[in-house]
Amino acid sequence: MSKSTTKYHLITLGCPKNKVDSDGMEMMLRDAALASTEDPNKADVLIVNTCGFLEAAKEESIGVLQDLARRKRHNQLLIAAGCLAQRNGDEVLARVPKVDGLLGTRRWMDVMDLIEQIRGGNGGKKRTLQRYSLLGDPDVAYEAAVPRPPVMGGSAYLKISDGCNAPCAFCTIPSFKGKLKSRPLNAIVDEADALVSAGARELVIVAQDTTDYGRDSGEPNSLPRLLSALCNRTSSDLRWLRLMYAYPGHVSDELIEVMAREEKVVPYLDMPLQHGDPRTLRRMRRPSRLEMVYDHIAKLRAAMPQIALRTTFIVGYPGETEEEFQGLLDFVNAIEFDKVGAFTFSPEPTTPSFELPDQVADEIKAERYARLMETQQPISLKKNQAQVGKMLEILVEGEGEIADTGAPLLLGRSYRDAPEVDGLVLVPGVSGAPIGSMMQVHINGAMEYDLVGEPLLSQVFNSSKAAVTLAE
Ligand code: SF4
Repeated sequence: MSKSTTKYHLITLGCPKNKVDSDGMEMMLRDAALASTEDPNKADVLIVNTCGFLEAAKEESIGVLQDLARRKRHNQLLIAAGCLAQRNGDEVLARVPKVDGLLGTRRWMDVMDLIEQIRGGNGGKKRTLQRYSLLGDPDVAYEAAVPRPPVMGGSAYLKISDGCNAPCAFCTIPSFKGKLKSRPLNAIVDEADALVSAGARELVIVAQDTTDYGRDSGEPNSLPRLLSALCNRTSSDLRWLRLMYAYPGHVSDELIEVMAREEKVVPYLDMPLQHGDPRTLRRMRRPSRLEMVYDHIAKLRAAMPQIALRTTFIVGYPGETEEEFQGLLDFVNAIEFDKVGAFTFSPEPTTPSFELPDQVADEIKAERYARLMETQQPISLKKNQAQVGKMLEILVEGEGEIADTGAPLLLGRSYRDAPEVDGLVLVPGVSGAPIGSMMQVHINGAMEYDLVGEPLLSQVFNSSKAAVTLAE
């Protein structure tokens, strides 16, 4: 089989950080003249970029691999990449014996090497009964800088470090990703520039803890410097820089000052807090001084009154009493986050919380999850309603149709919404705006997750006004 006809089918599971690695892998595959196919049956190489963060994610990854393995043809290659391959490679091979190769989290850039190794280095038939792994040492320096095309919608993720120094008792990530490894500032700026040249208008900064950037190079709190460098040295076509995964306690005054000063840094912060009761937070081995969180949030809101704050919580952590859970609800009501994501606790083998007594029953976890969401919904709605009457700039992500009438519906995001996890701005009756373009929209409706708007007339590309029914 000649390389030019080789096709790959890549499935990405898990978080945006995995998506970044998959984008990089695709770049390497395409550079080697492999072509992507949506149909696994037509692929010569099947790759699953797995997630190993929670038990449920692990089982999903194994399930996807098993499904592909069942249908796998003799001469097809099946590669398990990413977190689960790194963390539980042996288990992957035991449970999916048809996996031909493992590719670790910091070895995605070696995907072609792995394929060549499996095929015997000459593109010929694969050797049988032999598996190959490129897992790497999680503590090696993380310097890969491969320019990648932006994700759809003019937005791209920019990974600034890998690994984590925090001791969270429920988290497996440090055990297989190792300690924090920051990428060199210049490599990040170069990659940002390449992404913007390739069409990205928004860069979403990700890492396990973005706010710890630089600590491993003896320069803690380097994120403000990185943000300034990105704003000053990246092409002016970059419009939005968005910060995800901030750690309470690492949100410094300098960071807030740079966020408020630099026009390109959007007034948005994702700060996963995991809980809102100090007792639960202590058992989680997370920062438990809520005064510090209140202080960060007061400073952020004072510096950027329009800031949108997102957080995530875990409910049903071992030992979480009704009183502690009520503490979380009180905290949610007191802070009034713009956006809240939640998970039910999943005990992960090898983490300290796996051994903790007083595990919470699944029904109680589900019930608390529902109560947390019910508590947040009116707050999210109120925050969205406060946008009605404002002009917001949106990044066009695509088009849809209004279900009842078939009329066009433009889909975009404002600075208040991160890709993939937050809501959208829906613009009924409009089509034809290029994906990745920016436009001004007058907000005239609000739902819990999404906003509705109409564009300034001068920007309408192909307008045919249509009625839309808005939820109250
Ligand atoms: S900060 Fe995030 S990645 Fe780091 S240990 Fe805690 S939960 Fe895990």
